[in-house]
Amino acid sequence: SKSSLQGYAPICLGLEDFYVRRLYLRIQDCFNRPISSSPDAWFDLVERVSNDNNKTLNRTTRVKRCLNLGSYNYLGFAAADEYCTPRAIETLKKFSPSSCSSRVDGGTTTLHVELEKCVANFLGKDAAIVFGMGYVTNSAILPVLMGKGSLIISDSLNHNSIVNGARGSGATIRVFQHNTPSHLEKVLREQIAEGQPRTHRPWKKIMVVVEGIYSMEGELCKLPEIVSICKKYKAYVYLDEAHSIGAVGKTGRGVCELLGVDTADVDILMGTFTKSFGSCGGYIAGSKDLIEYLKYACPAHLYATSISPPAAEQIISSIKVILGEDGSSRGAQKLAKIRENSNFFRSELQKMGFEVLGDNDSPVMPIMLYNPAKIPAFSRECLKRNVAVVTVAFPATPLLLARARICISAAHTREDLVKALEVISEVGDMVGIKYFPAEPKKQ
Ligand code: PMP
Repeated sequence: SKSSLQGYAPICLGLEDFYVRRLYLRIQDCFNRPISSSPDAWFDLVERVSNDNNKTLNRTTRVKRCLNLGSYNYLGFAAADEYCTPRAIETLKKFSPSSCSSRVDGGTTTLHVELEKCVANFLGKDAAIVFGMGYVTNSAILPVLMGKGSLIISDSLNHNSIVNGARGSGATIRVFQHNTPSHLEKVLREQIAEGQPRTHRPWKKIMVVVEGIYSMEGELCKLPEIVSICKKYKAYVYLDEAHSIGAVGKTGRGVCELLGVDTADVDILMGTFTKSFGSCGGYIAGSKDLIEYLKYACPAHLYATSISPPAAEQIISSIKVILGEDGSSRGAQKLAKIRENSNFFRSELQKMGFEVLGDNDSPVMPIMLYNPAKIPAFSRECLKRNVAVVTVAFPATPLLLARARICISAAHTREDLVKALEVISEVGDMVGIKYFPAEPKKQ
């Protein structure tokens, strides 16, 4: 009803993904946004991301500098880090951007070996194996570990890379209610023949797959409960720490450290380097035997070009900073800062009356919009005020659970966050997404 919102048309419900996307494009065309001249309405062109966590957006006709509230750059290592960047540049000169070879055919440099040792040490596991892409790590490893005759029990909100890997494995898949240990136990009990000893069951193996921090929910995994259920039913635990490794835990070692779970109780630790480490690629860490097996049995390890050497150096260097091995206390400061920033931002949003999903300490903060028609209004109005937010909707979320997904970084200053809160509050009033009464401001 507000004049500033004219043109933000409501969206029809119950349409297939393709039609929903088409409809968005049509709605966006009505906004006077210079979108029709853009190469693709879905992809903003980002010209640069700076180390003060700003990004420069090129919307084809206008270049705009914005505060970046959507990046996974949790520890601020992604752009021009004083320790990591010079080392990555040196590696680029020495090894070139690509090894141009698969791991078995000359693509294993000294850096790859160092990286795998460094990741295993950091995670407290015997060994690790790395891949050039986080997505591929899940989708290529699950089919190697599981197959016909085995059972995968997957959280209902697991990432698409897990879903694809599970489907590709040929294993039977059961889904348990998101982050609900009691439902996981019910599913496990159903899968094990009544009255039989626990070891006598129709499955070759059972694996429970969960995430450390759910990327669309900002929620921490109920890992202690899940691990103890898996022990009881002799099921393997596969934990995807894409959003939690480096981002939470006193020394950045993820949800195991934060929630007091011994990594020995998690059989397979998976994670990506694209978030806290500001690089690219993914890893699996586990027992020596498991990793040795994966090295020879996983086609994505044998046949794909190995992870880019400068990217590998970026990961090694950022882990050194986290551990204080660069001779400074920057790592500890970053970890303290992301925690302080996340908890400050979350509590301020809640005080304003927003519905914010997720748990304390999590840097992922979805603000519920619900109606997908509010997405363009919210993101456009924030962008007008130089704040870039990421909005997510169907098919990444259920159709009527659209949200803005804020990612907080250690690189955000208090001034950045205060500015962002002012903008989000103003736009939130405009779009009508403060679902709770605001807390009165202290004098
Ligand atoms: N797992 C989870 C939980 C993710 O959120 C993502 C992507 N954000 C991936 C895996 C894939 O990682 P990458 O983007 O590094 O390929």
